[in-house]
Amino acid sequence: MLDMTATRPLVLVVEDEAALATMLRYNLEKQGFRVEEAADGQEALTRIAETQPDLVLLDWMLPALSGLEVCRQIRRRPATRDLPVIMVTARTEDQDAVRGLNTGADDYITKPFNTEALVARMRALLRRSGALPTKSALAFHDITMDLATHRVTRNARALHLGPTEFRLLEFFLQHPRRVFSREELLDAVWGKDIHVEPRTVDVHIRRLRKAINGPDELDLVRTVRAAGYAIDTEAV
Ligand code: CA
Repeated sequence: MLDMTATRPLVLVVEDEAALATMLRYNLEKQGFRVEEAADGQEALTRIAETQPDLVLLDWMLPALSGLEVCRQIRRRPATRDLPVIMVTARTEDQDAVRGLNTGADDYITKPFNTEALVARMRALLRRSGALPTKSALAFHDITMDLATHRVTRNARALHLGPTEFRLLEFFLQHPRRVFSREELLDAVWGKDIHVEPRTVDVHIRRLRKAINGPDELDLVRTVRAAGYAIDTEAV
């Protein structure tokens, strides 16, 4: 049985500002992460034990228990000693950031931050911890995907993919020639807890085709009637 969640690491977002937590969840899910939330430091420790996240995004200023204290406790417990932690701070003083890292945070990011920068740091840490594949590139036929830089090329021509098309292609490239149903693709690329119509898959497959197939190039996305889609060099 193929593990559909293998490429979707679980992130615990610890944030007491509800609007920011919602925004983070939305953006991180769009980038292919599964997201759990905690609104204070005490809840964070409980949720970590319950859900065993792959990474914790930890706000510095929290009610009940500060981010620093949560980080200390994460490092003190054998089960979570190596859990990747990114500290989120509204303060800009370097001294504070250094204090955060001394407490055991692996990295820190200062508010306001853009999602791209955050996700790049998250992926780097997840690769180091083994929660994301360390393979630096995926390839099939004349397509290459660089997982570090997110550059995708076909015949050395740069392709421009939206985030969903990128993840669809990444998933296909991990399992070349294998046919996936719309439901399997939804679970793997969008996530089990997200409610999307299976039809949505068709829309993104269409976009993916448009993005990767040049006018004289072989269509690498194979449609298998009543079964689903695959990346393949053989047309039906
Ligand atoms: Ca806060």
